[in-house]
Amino acid sequence: MNGNYTFSIIKPNAVRTGKTGPVLAMINEAGFEIAAMKMIRMSVSQAENFYAVHKDKPFFSSLVEFMSSGPIVVMILKHTDAVDEFRKLIGATDPANAEPGTIRKLFAVSLQMNAVHGSDSDENAIRECDFFFTPEERFL
Ligand code: UDP
Ligand code: MG
Repeated sequence: MNGNYTFSIIKPNAVRTGKTGPVLAMINEAGFEIAAMKMIRMSVSQAENFYAVHKDKPFFSSLVEFMSSGPIVVMILKHTDAVDEFRKLIGATDPANAEPGTIRKLFAVSLQMNAVHGSDSDENAIRECDFFFTPEERFL
């Protein structure tokens, strides 16, 4: 994927409170193109698999419960240096540490309910895109 793609989720708290449109507007205004997108609800086992890297962390079961608690919007985003540029747009994991103007600063309600996910490496972006999307569901 040559560093031009990243994977994102608009998390249940943000979808539930009507922030899907505002988050998508920020993503568009920052110059990302939407290569794939759908609204789904993760099962508990899907959420466990998606966050398997965190399975030994104290927040794992709570995170899985939250991420499977309602609909989410999953997306593949295209941009030069996509992973790093998108992590800059969303801000720090903990909204208390997120830069002003970032998506998490604006829309997170807690460390867990931090509104959006963004891949942390090209390798994980590929894994995460393939986790949710078939080739037929990708348009860029
Ligand atoms: N998280 C949490 N408690 C923590 C750390 C993380 O609930 O102490 C949640 C939060 O929703 C975060 C996700 O787990 O986005 C994955 O954590 P990670 O460290 O990978 O942060 P991210 O890559 O999302 O910034
Ligand atoms: Mg992460």
